[in-house]
Amino acid sequence: MCLCCIVPDSVLEKLLQDRKLPEEARQGLSQTIKLDSEIRKLRRQASRLTSFEFAAKISIAPSPAIVVYDCNHSQTLPGTPVSNPGSSRDTTIKTVFSTTTKVSDFYQQVFGRNSIDNAAMTLLSSVHFGDGYNNAFWNGTQMAYGDGNGELFVDFSRGNDVVGHELTHGVTQHTLGLNYTNEPGGLNESISDVFGSMFRQWVAGQSSSQADWLIGSDIVGPAARQRGYSCLRDLANPPAQHCLSPQPKHFSSYQTGMDPHLSSGIPNHAFYLAATKIGGHSWEKMGQVWYAVLTSGRSPGMKMARFAGLTRQFAGSMFPAEPGVLQAVDTAWSTVGL
Ligand SMILES: [Zn+2]
Repeated sequence: MCLCCIVPDSVLEKLLQDRKLPEEARQGLSQTIKLDSEIRKLRRQASRLTSFEFAAKISIAPSPAIVVYDCNHSQTLPGTPVSNPGSSRDTTIKTVFSTTTKVSDFYQQVFGRNSIDNAAMTLLSSVHFGDGYNNAFWNGTQMAYGDGNGELFVDFSRGNDVVGHELTHGVTQHTLGLNYTNEPGGLNESISDVFGSMFRQWVAGQSSSQADWLIGSDIVGPAARQRGYSCLRDLANPPAQHCLSPQPKHFSSYQTGMDPHLSSGIPNHAFYLAATKIGGHSWEKMGQVWYAVLTSGRSPGMKMARFAGLTRQFAGSMFPAEPGVLQAVDTAWSTVGL
């Protein structure tokens, strides 16, 4: 189970079974799997060390500093600091800087949140992590992006939903503090997909009906496309064949111990159903309801039914004059069995 990365190990392992892939590409996959397991250990440690109380908020900057480091294809984090990343000639550096800045703007303008910790925490990203590394991750303190091997996956910074997904893991760590296993793990992954997708829609100015609701469509490489895959996950249709990582969409398929990247399909689909039912911009109503639950206090062991119940509660209290919001939330969760 890869708990923090955008691409679950199961997908990498599935691709590894494909004997028609060039040997080099398969070696790259198994290297990524090995590395991910080391990264997970660090992630768990960082999670344990996260402080949720700020005893003295002395002086907090109005918005976070955004810094980019270059790993130069090494696996040493964070790498070398890049001066003026916004005007770098390296497109990956430039893209990560501008997209991270936009994610910060998204949280600030849409949810009134100042960075991951709501206290202007510096947003640190490392690019060109590893050699053809097929993943991107939040390790508890920073983001890191691989270049992909160019066949199955391309430069992970190209997906603005990927950047939004990873940064949201940081937000969850500092809010609900959800565990990475079982139901809280599925909720954790889903919150990253939901806010990653919403961020992508916000950047494009799309309404719920215009959005494609896909995750990772910009990082799927030519060899994966040839095999019929166009994304990692699809909130509109979680079990779809075009997903590298098809997911269940009904709670009756949930099993204890399920990879959070799979069980997240259930709450993902509920958000999609609620947002498209109410229409308009997903971040204006449903996003606000989901964010209210996300910031409702620390609850590492929260289960899906409890999360669903809280969204119903907030939908009613936040939009008392619009009963359609609660109705949409209620129907969406009932449809996925919660
Ligand atoms: Zn994730």
